[in-house]
Amino acid sequence: MSKTIKCHVCSGEMKPYVGPRHNRRFGMFLAGAGVVSTLFWIGPVLGIPLMAMGGYMAGSKRKLFVCSDCHTAIERLEVKMEPKGRTAKQAKETVEAEAV
Ligand SMILES: [Zn+2]
Repeated sequence: MSKTIKCHVCSGEMKPYVGPRHNRRFGMFLAGAGVVSTLFWIGPVLGIPLMAMGGYMAGSKRKLFVCSDCHTAIERLEVKMEPKGRTAKQAKETVEAEAV
């Protein structure tokens, strides 16, 4: 069973797309700077957090739906419901994002 999402701008078909959440190159740069500073300069106090941050930025992804016609993108957020939910208002929230 597959569900399709219709674009609310042009009613085109929206396709799932997984893209990087942050600038991957900047994340790699941070991780690289972390390694360098761990080896040469200030040491692991600064280097290890830099590496962790860089690794996170390079690796984290987000799920999007992108319209195949007008390239409008919506981000898909997994909303965790509380176990004794008061009111299940929205199972899924969508946030509009600019097309990549
Ligand atoms: Zn569209």
